[in-house]
Amino acid sequence: MRVESGRKAKVNKKQETRNKKQESRISKMQKERLYGKTLNELIAVTKRIGLPGFAARQIADWLYKKEIKSIDDMTNLSKKMRETLAVDYEVGLFPPVSESESTDGTKKYLFKVLNNKYIETAFIPDKDRATICVSSQSGCKMGCIFCMTGKQGFQGNLTSNEILNQFRSLPEFSSLTNIVFMGMGEPLDNVNEVMKTLEILTAEWGYAWSPTRITVSTVGLVGPIKDFLEKSRCHLAVSLHSPFDEERRKLMPIQKTNTVKEVLDVIRNFEINSQRRISFEYILFKGINDTPLHIKELARILNGIKCRINIIRFHPIPGSEFVSPDLGTTINFKEALNAKGILTTIRSSRGVDIQAACGLLSTLEQNKTILK
Ligand code: SF4
Repeated sequence: MRVESGRKAKVNKKQETRNKKQESRISKMQKERLYGKTLNELIAVTKRIGLPGFAARQIADWLYKKEIKSIDDMTNLSKKMRETLAVDYEVGLFPPVSESESTDGTKKYLFKVLNNKYIETAFIPDKDRATICVSSQSGCKMGCIFCMTGKQGFQGNLTSNEILNQFRSLPEFSSLTNIVFMGMGEPLDNVNEVMKTLEILTAEWGYAWSPTRITVSTVGLVGPIKDFLEKSRCHLAVSLHSPFDEERRKLMPIQKTNTVKEVLDVIRNFEINSQRRISFEYILFKGINDTPLHIKELARILNGIKCRINIIRFHPIPGSEFVSPDLGTTINFKEALNAKGILTTIRSSRGVDIQAACGLLSTLEQNKTILK
């Protein structure tokens, strides 16, 4: 038996090495993607291949202001320039592989990234708002115990191309009014690619969106929060879920190394302009974090910070004991916080019939692929 399993392990090892070689051959053959590059990166591209400096702005214009899909469509570049560019580069847009629609109009799309991994993107229409919720990583390292993406483990950081492509390749792209980084992964654990994405979304040479239309969420990574507050003007949403250290540590392991107190100190010491919104996300778990003691402590720790709390009703995930309190308890919780001077809202549950909990749909797809 032991000999047999030893042989099997050797065969698997050989196969793994062959697969890796093949993957690296494929990635060497693949062209580099232009979509998702900042203006400075495009300038570097033009320099590298000997195109005139002004071509970088023209390329940015085609990529982010006009809806082109191929280098050949960049018609104000000469044919020769387009041919030179196309040797090593491509635009690099790719459509979602599947779509599901909820009875409430919410849609979930799956995109394939990083060699056969799946990420989720949600489209949430609401009166005159149309919000896209993008993923920044495949899987996640943070291990929050109530989250399906956390259960997948970490599979890789998305590039700015893969993050921005969710926005651009969404069928509802032209109707979008807001973007939130609240999909799979911890955005500030992939801070460089996320910051590049924010630059492209807000720069005058990019999409020129107002930063007030963009919200980035975080479990509370102290160092990257400082960076984010300094280098961008977008809204910040911190996942709080409990004001008590010990309890939060059980829900969110990040509390062991990045405490809420440290996060709040960073926010308190930063001058937040009146356009910018700081919010705290709070998933209510029945009998766990929905008591009067929690209300009192939330009011105490958030005292002096201009912020709001968004209460989120828990979307059940397989194998989890957590449940949402009833609507009455949720409303009372919200009103008690409002009475203490903290602007609090309840985020409506959307897409419950299409695996709304983040990470559910991609886990199902991943499992399907494994079973094939
Ligand atoms: S809640 Fe966010 S940070 Fe926590 S495991 Fe899930 S995706 Fe990661």
